[in-house]
Amino acid sequence: MIDTGITAGEPGPDDAALDLLCDLIRRRSVTPEDAGCLELIAERLKPAGFTCEFMPFGEVSNLWARRGTVGPLLCFAGHTDVVLPGPIENWSSDPFEPDLREGRLYGRGAADMKSGLAAMVTAALQFVAAHPRHSGSIAFLLTSDEEGRAREGTKKVIEALSARNEAIDWCVLGEPSSREHLGDTVRIGRRGSLSAIATVHGVEGHVAYPEQVDNPIRRFAPVLDELHETVWDEGNEFFPPTSFQVVSIASDGGAPNVTPGELKARFNFRYSTVWTSETLKGKVEKLVSAHDIDCTLDWHLSGEPFLTEEGRLTEAVVKAVYEESGLRPELSTGGGTSDGRFISPAGAAVVELGPVNASIHKPDENVSVADVASLTAMYRRIMELLLRAE
Ligand SMILES: [Zn+2]
Repeated sequence: MIDTGITAGEPGPDDAALDLLCDLIRRRSVTPEDAGCLELIAERLKPAGFTCEFMPFGEVSNLWARRGTVGPLLCFAGHTDVVLPGPIENWSSDPFEPDLREGRLYGRGAADMKSGLAAMVTAALQFVAAHPRHSGSIAFLLTSDEEGRAREGTKKVIEALSARNEAIDWCVLGEPSSREHLGDTVRIGRRGSLSAIATVHGVEGHVAYPEQVDNPIRRFAPVLDELHETVWDEGNEFFPPTSFQVVSIASDGGAPNVTPGELKARFNFRYSTVWTSETLKGKVEKLVSAHDIDCTLDWHLSGEPFLTEEGRLTEAVVKAVYEESGLRPELSTGGGTSDGRFISPAGAAVVELGPVNASIHKPDENVSVADVASLTAMYRRIMELLLRAE
């Protein structure tokens, strides 16, 4: 039992996943802090036969826990870190003290994604107890650096696993994928994210002598227009059309009578599997160089797009969701990036199934208590469908 400061009359927290979720919310694991979350999870997994390996990189804590030595390997993945709570006065209760009100549990990380972690760990313990001789292996790949730079988390662990030829066959990420009801949406891929800073070089000067200046704002305006007008692709069955967005432009001569010598613009593409970062960069560079402009482009790739084709993993996930909720999930590639971008390129089929995402990164973040139990049942069913020995 837990002490959650629960109001009298609420249903008792007799659920193991809810118990673990409350323990995790109490740990103030703001990126890149783990605040003991991984230790807590490892202590639950070890007695069930998981070999727990801590893989710290820089100030980031990571855990690789595995039960079994043979394939196929079903991995549950996620992050213990949470975003800052913002102004405390916007919360109805302490963001790091789980609070149960009218069937919902409130606290930072309740939806993104400590409920996913609590459900997957609890589901694995239940599954292992019922099927100690399951086929294949079960693993957990958990990090404390997903919400931040994400450079020393899942990415590094995957590199370390690949270096020793340890390959994940199926991966379920517990990110909050659902829109209105638990299981209504399962992510089977993500768009790529590619950013650039364009620096346009000009010649500053007095506004009264236009023949002596080269105004970078004027040079860049038609380029920006063409970037906006270009239809990059039409999208496809799984991806919406690729989108271009400019997020900032800075150029200032510093006085009303001085033209600027330089312009900096920052923009981002969210792109489908029609492109790779290299082909997209090539297209943009060609577009820019067709204009009379002196421009350098500094690129930053957050992640290539990925798509998990239909197969045993997607079938098992859809079946598990349907059996538990009666919903047939939409298989989607929407939303922002996730650590799936690091796991998929290593050859794993990756899906994301987690709670409703309406309150994530907001004050009063919360999850339905009933959904935590249902999500646990879905994860357990996925293990049964993929790993139970015949
Ligand atoms: Zn998340």
